[in-house]
Amino acid sequence: MDVERTLSIIKPDATARNITGKINTFFEEAGLRIVAQKRLHLTRQQAEVFYAVHAERSFFNELCDYMISGPVVVQVLEGEEAIAKNRQVMGATNPANGEEGTIRKELGVNVQENSVHGSDSLDNAAKEIAFFFAESEIVG
Ligand code: ADP
Ligand code: MG
Repeated sequence: MDVERTLSIIKPDATARNITGKINTFFEEAGLRIVAQKRLHLTRQQAEVFYAVHAERSFFNELCDYMISGPVVVQVLEGEEAIAKNRQVMGATNPANGEEGTIRKELGVNVQENSVHGSDSLDNAAKEIAFFFAESEIVG
């Protein structure tokens, strides 16, 4: 098994409810290490570039509005198979469809306000990490 790094974002619905520590506990209990972390308020341009892959989807504007509606916490998670492991811990995009014990099922509000983002592939993880972090900010 390979040690990987993945990009995680704790989204505005979760920072608003002051549950960032609770979410970090899910990661740590799953064996993922938080090797970089910072809290920031995305600009609209950053949100649009980050989610450019969804630019044609009907919910794109609403998604960008939501992602800039409050602060987020961006993080690099490291561990064995970190990308798949994080997607597992996150759960389904729509919290209503999620498995018990996943972050989105336990803490998500709805299909948009689903508390966390996680990279979906090795390539995207590398791109998304580089979008937010210099290599010197990641301390494994
Ligand atoms: P995931 O975050 O599980 O990878 P997607 O990449 O499909 O899901 O979507 C990115 C984000 O867009 C979701 O996490 C969610 O915040 C939002 N989103 C997805 N589908 C919808 C939808 N049908 N309506 C509103 N927002 C959505
Ligand atoms: Mg996605």
